[in-house]
Amino acid sequence: MRLFYAALALEANNFLPLPTSYQAFVEKLYFPPGKYPARGAHQTGAMDAVRARARSGEFELIEGSCYAAQPGGAASRAAYERMRDEILGQLKAALPIDGAVFNLHGAMVAHGYDDCEGDFLERVRALTGPNCVIGVELDPHCHLTRKRCGLADVIVLFKEYPHTDFAERGEETVDFVLRAIRHEIKPVKSVFDCRLIASFPTSIQPMRGLVDRIMALQGKDRVLSVSIGHCFPYGDVPECGARILVITDGAKPHGDRLAEQIGRELIALREQAAPKFYDVDGAIDAALAHPGGPIVIADATDNAGGGAPSDNTTFLHRLIARGVQGAAVAPIWDPIAVRLAFDAGEGARLPFRFAGKIAKSSGPPVDAEVEVIRCVPDAHQTFAGAVVPLGDVASIRMGGVEAVLISTRAQAMGTDLFSNFGIDPKARKILVVKSNQHFHASFSQIAAQVLYAEGDGPLPRDYRKLPWRNIERPIWPLDAETTPRLII
Ligand SMILES: [Zn+2]
Repeated sequence: MRLFYAALALEANNFLPLPTSYQAFVEKLYFPPGKYPARGAHQTGAMDAVRARARSGEFELIEGSCYAAQPGGAASRAAYERMRDEILGQLKAALPIDGAVFNLHGAMVAHGYDDCEGDFLERVRALTGPNCVIGVELDPHCHLTRKRCGLADVIVLFKEYPHTDFAERGEETVDFVLRAIRHEIKPVKSVFDCRLIASFPTSIQPMRGLVDRIMALQGKDRVLSVSIGHCFPYGDVPECGARILVITDGAKPHGDRLAEQIGRELIALREQAAPKFYDVDGAIDAALAHPGGPIVIADATDNAGGGAPSDNTTFLHRLIARGVQGAAVAPIWDPIAVRLAFDAGEGARLPFRFAGKIAKSSGPPVDAEVEVIRCVPDAHQTFAGAVVPLGDVASIRMGGVEAVLISTRAQAMGTDLFSNFGIDPKARKILVVKSNQHFHASFSQIAAQVLYAEGDGPLPRDYRKLPWRNIERPIWPLDAETTPRLII
């Protein structure tokens, strides 16, 4: 048996003027064949599983290239076509194959392509023919389009947000593909379109309960896999929206009923899924009023994980203006400021300008007398055991407020985003993190309380504020009346 594996991942926020180049992929994640790392990460969630099962002798693994960029604007046409054609060339050279497994994020848009994964899988299918079993692991912030559902035999989404279960879902994807190749199962899809866009963190109720219930359904009554496509609510493509995917072993009517039932449950909780959101000063007030610490405040509207620049300055300005002591903000994406801090050196004190650069929504820059705390070349943070590169990083202090400046754009994921740079997160009163939800897995372990804030970054919580042009209507909350339905 011969199996091919590759990865291509971008979550594209096509409302933003932040272009995603080929270089943006190479900087974030690029593993050519033969250069895979010891452990996969969440954009290569099935990598460990395919390698482990190849080592056990079940099949011969043919490695393809793996690419992933930090969420940002749409990829350039040249970048997408270069990576796509590189992987397709490797696949063609690997033929004949019995199966293929891909990690595709699922919300990739490139200039000229609003469904990159659908385009990619169409070309894969054209090369492999109909008998090759194609399995895809996707991020739940994907667009679960009809086209890609028709092209892949197996699609499995992460169930958790934060995405801590990428490895387990990767194991399932590989397992289903191998069983289908051996004709032990016949995967059949049912897809229910909920006609809504929303955010669904799974660390809190009511989503926690729904995820636990779908986990319990798997492996019974011929149900192989149940996935909730949360949607990526900043991707303006026709099929953006929450969808439920149920894969059964040849039991389509049962899958259809289950997909609709779970879809109706998701619709019923859409207004309760998100936690309470404070405004900026409200979040600072609540943190200061708390007797303990650290209080972790998520600046969700400037989350690089949703494609934001991560250089909005509103929290910094308010913390400094209010004279707050023991506060730290991270990460701030400002490679030029990092360079200046490196030039000044650790321990230097100097007048310094940083952040507030990329877009109007970044706000005005911060000008302050700062002390350079730490300069770390080629630095990183961690997420669920995986290494997340940050490029060169400098930490700075101005009065009672500290900030971590990074060169490779990323969202806050691990508490080592502070501790690696001379800031003890447990000893601070307030930690402001630029993230919507991924921070929660690590920071909830040290936080006296976690607060969510709606700042004035480019990712509004109210999706009606965005200039949608391509999305199919009607869809909630842009429209009050919708018609949820089974689409596959
Ligand atoms: Zn995601």
